Amino acid sequence: MQKHLAISRGRLQTFLRPTQLPGKLYPAKSPVKLAVWRAPGRVTFAEAQRGTYRPARLGEKFGPLWATAWFKVDITIPAAWRGREVVFLWDSNSEACVWQNGVPLQGLTGSGVSAWMNVTGPARNRFHLTPHARGGERHTLYVELACNQLGGEHNQFLELGKLAQAEIAVFDRPVWDLLWDYIVIADMAQQLPTDSPRAAQALWAANAMINACNLDDRTTWPATRRLARQFLAARNGGGQHNLSAIGHAHIDTAWLWPLAETMRKCYRTFATAVRYMAEYPEYKFVCSQAQQLEWMKRQHPALYTKIKRYARADRFVPAGGTWVEPDCNIPSGESLVRQFLVGQRFFQKEFGRSCREFWNPDVFGYNGQLPQIMRGAGITRFLTQKLSWNQLNKPHAHTFWWEGIDGSRVLTHFPPADTYNGDASIKELLFNVRNYKDLERSNESYYLFGHGDGGGGPTYEMLEQLRRVRDTDGVPRVVQRSPEEFFDRLEADMKALTTQVGELYFELHRGTYTTQAKNKLHNRRSEDLLHDVEFLAAVAGRSYPVAELARLWKLVLVNQFHDIIPGSSITEVYRDSAAHYTDILASAGRLRNAALGQLISAGQQRVAVVNTLSFPRREVVTVAGKPAIVSAPAMGYAVQTPATKTDQPVTLIANTTGFVLENQFLRAALHRDGHLTQLTDKRTGREAIAGKANHFVLFDDVPANFDAWDMDVYHLEKRREVAGAKSCRVIEQSPLRVTVEFVFAISATSRMQHRVSLDAVAPRLDFACTVDWNETNKFFKVEFPTTIRSDVATYEIQFGHLQRSTHFNTSYDIARFEVCAHRWADLSEPGCGLALLNDCKYGYATHRNVMRLSLLRSPKNPDPVADIGRHQFRYALLPHAGDFRAAGVIPAARAFNAPLLLQPTGAPAGVRSFFSVNNPAVVIDTVKQAEDSRAVIVRLYEAHGARSRVRLTSQLPVAKATRCNLLEHDEAPVTWRNGGATLELRPFQIVTLKLARGR
Ligand SMILES: [Zn+2]
Repeated sequence: MQKHLAISRGRLQTFLRPTQLPGKLYPAKSPVKLAVWRAPGRVTFAEAQRGTYRPARLGEKFGPLWATAWFKVDITIPAAWRGREVVFLWDSNSEACVWQNGVPLQGLTGSGVSAWMNVTGPARNRFHLTPHARGGERHTLYVELACNQLGGEHNQFLELGKLAQAEIAVFDRPVWDLLWDYIVIADMAQQLPTDSPRAAQALWAANAMINACNLDDRTTWPATRRLARQFLAARNGGGQHNLSAIGHAHIDTAWLWPLAETMRKCYRTFATAVRYMAEYPEYKFVCSQAQQLEWMKRQHPALYTKIKRYARADRFVPAGGTWVEPDCNIPSGESLVRQFLVGQRFFQKEFGRSCREFWNPDVFGYNGQLPQIMRGAGITRFLTQKLSWNQLNKPHAHTFWWEGIDGSRVLTHFPPADTYNGDASIKELLFNVRNYKDLERSNESYYLFGHGDGGGGPTYEMLEQLRRVRDTDGVPRVVQRSPEEFFDRLEADMKALTTQVGELYFELHRGTYTTQAKNKLHNRRSEDLLHDVEFLAAVAGRSYPVAELARLWKLVLVNQFHDIIPGSSITEVYRDSAAHYTDILASAGRLRNAALGQLISAGQQRVAVVNTLSFPRREVVTVAGKPAIVSAPAMGYAVQTPATKTDQPVTLIANTTGFVLENQFLRAALHRDGHLTQLTDKRTGREAIAGKANHFVLFDDVPANFDAWDMDVYHLEKRREVAGAKSCRVIEQSPLRVTVEFVFAISATSRMQHRVSLDAVAPRLDFACTVDWNETNKFFKVEFPTTIRSDVATYEIQFGHLQRSTHFNTSYDIARFEVCAHRWADLSEPGCGLALLNDCKYGYATHRNVMRLSLLRSPKNPDPVADIGRHQFRYALLPHAGDFRAAGVIPAARAFNAPLLLQPTGAPAGVRSFFSVNNPAVVIDTVKQAEDSRAVIVRLYEAHGARSRVRLTSQLPVAKATRCNLLEHDEAPVTWRNGGATLELRPFQIVTLKLARGR
């Protein structure tokens, strides 16, 4: 015979046609008896047992989206099938779960899993009933049909919920084994370089198998399989790449489905994982997100017992250390600490070990304090991969040291297949090695396989492929290993890794700093309120509300999941989320009032002004409807009679063009159309504004791909100025505070009431907006052209700040055309600067001398009503002399977010400060009761980026002080003398102290 390699290669696929080898997989089929109950919603198995069932038939549809139907499946195995392996086949064009005796046994996923995930055909339609039928025996199963796909509601193109298959079949295992031998070899023939020996050998072997196999004569099959074994038996050389693999099912805790469906995705996925483990001894599965395991513990104890059994064998591996996989842009530093604290405590209690790795493969940017937070939570290793999606600059390394803004380092690995949903194909395994950017520094990498995003996890098909490539020449050695095993191997093998310093900015999904504005507002308010409750209850020292605080924190944490708080979920998710925040804010409000009541005696004669922040304050507040000047010490209160007069009043002059607002620090001129035309710092005479500031603009915001997630850089090219205010009036004019109100028509469909205030004591101009927003793909920002020239602007992040360019010199600078910040951004040149504070926003864009704050977006997908409705938010301008640190921008922004609390009291005038520090570089961030004792935890951080010495003092009796980590594990004793301790902090260091209460 002549050679015809290309034709032979083309032949390979023919053997996989339905009429060829796969057609032999189920040599006999038999119908089942089906009865159905359309459930009123997501019900328990016990409730499903009480349903009213009627006969069901193939071809029926069981919608609509999110509907649930329960099927009772009566199976009688034909007598003729004695000795055969028998399976149950099911395809309802949706997700489903097999139940028996009240226990979920396995998930099933029908055709057209998800257009989103590019999976076609049934992802999982087989449930193994018995390896050896007796013949004639009966089985009863329940199948719970969940009318959605793995990818939620995404795929519009299939008949969702249509029952396409329900039957039993004989499973011909020799065919199955032969099939996967053949697929692996044929794939090697196709995927290896055509000029490589192994590609040629694979092509020869696959062809020989087709030739040797007579499909109608099973006596030829063993010889065919021997050909495969001979080929696969060739071993790799010593230099071959080592790929550690682990089964995974990235389950988005909410996204294109609500939390209630996620709970079901969890048991479908986890039941499948433990069931397959019985059949595949090499199979390991990694499960992050403590929250999902807690649901199993509470709702499915029998399944949870199995999970724990496999966890003890290090095969079902709890990982990641956090409560959910959180967004890492928006949550506060303390929230991220709690993700680890609550998560690690769960893993420790339930599985006897805390995690050594942070597992967060799918998140939209990584703030520069994460390495320190990880380290503080006992974690030295980090796995993610999202930066492979970067628009302009792909990462230079897959394995590297990531060093945070304080100098803490973690070993970071991006799985080089650039996915957390691997399909275990030869193609992907080879790509993994080819794409690995650190091959010269490490011969180890990690590979995550299994359906993910909507859960599902590994399939039989994936496990069969990996089984054949543990060590076969030409393909990397693939062995399933836990994260711990993988990172141990990596650490032993790696050399001369490169280092990345600072944030890992994600060059995509920048809309997630702004989308679903109410969610972000409520998160900020919840964080602030829980901060106050914890501080006040800890210093009140009576009954600390342990259980309720734990419940509220878990609600905050779950809503920080990486598709909830970024704003990338469907409408229903935000309905749930809004209800959670209502609960949190109401309950935490009650707890705060209760703690205030314990701390401050009742009465009406005076006012106790309570300050929960760590620096003293003097501010104008509203008492009995009128402005008054009050003061309060750091982290404490002052009982006083508020002052309603001042020697240095604020003034307001209306003239023909507008208004001039002036206090002892600032002179601000506002045009009648609402623009700020002048903002002079009277202390220096320096003008901060260049041109029309407080200028509202609308951008067309039509991203190329992901509506809720993205804003593309081209939106900056389509900018429209919002028309000047329709009306203006003075609404407050007292010696202590003046306010002007403007009304804007933002568009034909959106309007804004806008108030600008200046008070007598603050060097800060305040802006309050109430917006009725009804737009389609419009992006609303406010702009401030300044007189400041600087190459960098500074932005607050968790427990610190960092700088980013104000120019577009390089692709890295352009990529950061929109950035995430917390309470403030600052643009300074030597001698002066301007800070732009906010009370609930996260998106900033400072370009050249123009500062912009992102206010509202209006994406239509996946939530068509995202952000439509009324919004209230505030921002403020703080011009300053000198450096932003010395000018007190950091405390000012904290104060802007944490109004002083006013509590009527009969107590005599006096001052009480529970905690204070003597260095403005150090911020006491959190005071709470310890998790395991009545000790008080005090968490502070160095906020200036400078090595600092600080004395912490407290009026509380302290018996013993200990430095501890973020998990509150003791690290070193601290000398506590004369009511305080002296600490040395390195730049941006977070320090946690545990103070045992004395008497
Ligand atoms: Zn995700």
